[in-house]
Parts: sequence; C-alpha cells; structure tokens
Amino acid sequence: MAVAQGQCPQCGAPITFGVGASVSQVCKYCRHEVVRTDRDLKNMGRVADLAPVPSLVAVDDTGTIDGQRIRVAGRVQLDHGAGPWDEWYIAFQDGRWGWLASAQGNWYVTLAVTPPALPPFEHVHVEQQISLGASGTFVVAEKKRGTITSGEGELPFEVRAGQTRAYADLHGPNGGFATIDYGDGSATPTLFVGMQRPEGALKIEARSERPVQEIGAEAITCPNCGGNVPALAPQRSERLACPYCNAVSEIAGRRVVAQQQAARMSPDIPLGSRGALDGQEYVVCGYVERASDEFAWQEYLLFGPGLGFRWLVKDESTWLFVTPISIADVDTSSMPRAAGYRGQRYTLRNRNPARVTYVLGELYWKVQIGEAVEAMDFTHGGAVLSRERAGDEVAWSVCTPKPWHELAAAFKLDPSGAGSQLQAPAAVFGGGGGGGGGDTSMMTIGIVIAIVVLIIVCGVCSGSCSGGGGSSTGGGTWGSSGSSRGGK
Ligand SMILES: [Zn+2]
Ligand SMILES: [Zn+2]
Repeated sequence: MAVAQGQCPQCGAPITFGVGASVSQVCKYCRHEVVRTDRDLKNMGRVADLAPVPSLVAVDDTGTIDGQRIRVAGRVQLDHGAGPWDEWYIAFQDGRWGWLASAQGNWYVTLAVTPPALPPFEHVHVEQQISLGASGTFVVAEKKRGTITSGEGELPFEVRAGQTRAYADLHGPNGGFATIDYGDGSATPTLFVGMQRPEGALKIEARSERPVQEIGAEAITCPNCGGNVPALAPQRSERLACPYCNAVSEIAGRRVVAQQQAARMSPDIPLGSRGALDGQEYVVCGYVERASDEFAWQEYLLFGPGLGFRWLVKDESTWLFVTPISIADVDTSSMPRAAGYRGQRYTLRNRNPARVTYVLGELYWKVQIGEAVEAMDFTHGGAVLSRERAGDEVAWSVCTPKPWHELAAAFKLDPSGAGSQLQAPAAVFGGGGGGGGGDTSMMTIGIVIAIVVLIIVCGVCSGSCSGGGGSSTGGGTWGSSGSSRGGK
C-alpha cells in the first residue's frame, strides 16, 4: 500500500508513505520531519514535541466513519491562543483523504473540494452566508487565526512550527460542515467540505499504541490535591474541576490551571448520576454556575455515549434541556429582534453577558473561571432559542422545558428534592462575601428593593438558557481551541 518509501535521513528508520497526497512525515523514532521530493527524502529538522491532548483516536488507528473505511495517517497540532488543538489527517480506502476533528462529542469530517470564488478572510464575519458552489450555501460559525505547533505521522504539507493559519468554519444544510483554510494568506484559500457527525459514527476497529497514561483511564488524579475522581467522559474532557479541592486542572497535561472558591450551592443532580432521557443514556459529568450582571443560574453537562454532550439548565422558573443546533438551520434575517428555527419565530427576551463563576467535574472545553460570552435568548411558547457569541465564534441551541419530576425519575432523585425548588432569581452583587459594615438592615432592604426592581425590569427572564460556559467549541480543519458549547 506504500506510495513511497525509504529511510529516515536522520536516523535510518524505515519511512513509508501510504497516502498519495502526503508531502511530509514526522519520523516516529527521531521526530525529524522528512519531506518527499521527486528524487529522495529530505530532512527538514526536528519537530517540537506534541502537547498531550485528550483524544479518542491516534495515528495509525483504522476503522470506519459512517461505514467508510479510514486510516488515521497523521495529525497536526495547532494553538489558537488557548492551548493545543489536534486535527487528524485521514486516508480513505479509495485513495481520498480528509480531516477529522472532534468537539463537544461530535466528529467533523471534511474533504478537499475545488473552491468557488471565496471572500477574503478580512471580509468574513460570523453568521455570514457564503456560497460554496455545488456544496450549497453555508453559514460562518467561527473565524480564527491559529499557529501550527507540531505534527505526527504523514501530512499533506510541511510542518513549519510557528506558521500561521487563518480559517473560517461554516455549517451547511443537513449537518453539512466546511472549513475555508486561508493558510498564511499567501496563497488562494483551500476549501474542505463534509459533515458534523455524532460520536458513534466513528468506529475504531484496530487501535494503535497509546501513551501509557491513556490506558485504563477510569479515574483522574487531581494534580492539586491528589484526589482520585472517577472519569465520566474519558478522553473527551479537557478540564477537571476537583470535587475535593475545587482546583481546575488540565486533564491531559496534569497541570493545575486555576484555583476557585468552594461553590455557593451544591448541584441538585450529583455528578456521576446516570439515567435515560427520551431514550438516550446520559451521565452527569460536569456542573457550571454562570451569571449575568443580574442573575446566577446552574447548568449541568450531560455526556451521552454515542451521542455527545448536552446541557440541562436550571433557570429560576424551569429546567431546560439544551440541544445544540446548526447555525445553518437558524433564520437570522430578523436579528436582533427575532430569530427563526423550523418555521417558528422566536422573539428576543434578553441579551446579557454570561460569565462562568464556578465549575465542577469534567468539562470538554478549556474552561476558565470568568470567561464570558454575549448570550441572547429568543422565546416562543416555553421554548428558548439561544445564541452565544464570544469574539468571532457563535453557537446556537434550542432549549425545551423538562419538568423536574421527569429528571428526578431519570436520575433516581427525590421528586420533591432541591431540584423541584425553582427559586426567585439569585441576585448577584459583586461576588459575595458579606456586606462590609454599615447599616446592615438598610443594606438588606436596599438589596430586596433592587431584586424586586430587577424582577420587574426583566420579567420572567433570568440568565441565558443556553448551557455551557464560554461560547462555542473548537475545530474545523484548523479548528479553534475554543470554549464550550456551540457548533464548532
Ligand atoms: Zn528518524
Ligand atoms: Zn483536588
């Protein structure tokens, strides 16, 4: 199956190229990059070590995606400002090749297609519609710049550490997904078009060797306190917020990234709770408290094997089940007053910054305490259409009410327990800690008045229904290192 072979000019190890499109290969023994030319193999020097990243796939894995046979031929590691991000170079059995990336439990599979005329990177903005020729009209969900930091295996280009890559990720009809790769801007952009697929669409049949620490990853050891925390979404989570010491750490790198105060409240649905909702099994793997300027609310991250991640949000008036949706399925023509989804018009209820104030458990993005998005909620009946934007990244989701008795039954909890108590909106006044001195009773009265005013001003609204900490995710062929929920 080799299309070219030879010896590593650095260490003499055998080098085999299995994909016709491959230009370079990182020698697995000496980590020098070997580039294939017409005549020989050229030594391009040593490539930086790869940073540890959680992943369900590895170079040389073979399996199927939607029934099509693939081999993972290589990976490129990038950084979009928040840490390492991997993209996998995959070879199909019939000689085609493409890219595979993972975000929030979804796979993104794209193949190179001949691009139509595309707008320059500087003219691209989120929610813009762009015609991708025969592939149809897609909508921009994310635009970013990244830097190539490292690579592994075969790749369709030379890895030059520090090389910048600008890209835009787009969603299209029927689960379509595309990336416009602007590279470093010196050449015409390349276009990759494919699909967003649920986790179960990829089946790895022959796993290649994994680093020792990935084998039997049933528990995560907190690098701050040494406590062992059961792994609830192993190889999918980026961050752990330790239930013993509250430290936030990078799971793959075993590095503490932040300390946080203990929570003000305890989760109504304990982490590790398992149950089925609408026929899908879930485990509650994460918990996030978020706040706008006026309100605080709680969000639960659910991992559904084969499906990916979903959110449950506890608003002051209801529980909401949050399903991410494709931006391509949202009618944004009446924004900001209204937005459309599946023929329904949702009207703007509120527009607030939403920031993460506390996290617990496992989170699939590089969560940071204090990270903020602009959250917009649009309502129709009891349902909420949510838009979260962070910089040049936007994510949409639809939220439907879920009565507590249904959640309690699913997760085997008390139907009249804490989750049944939907409290008045929790007012947030500059982050806790008693009101220093002065006339406490007057201050209390003042706060009560302020709460009443806020309730009147905001009607039934609270924070964002949306679920998820930061904005969106990460990915694309040159995907972001992104934050939480969103598309990708
Ligand atoms: Zn070598
Ligand atoms: Zn700990």
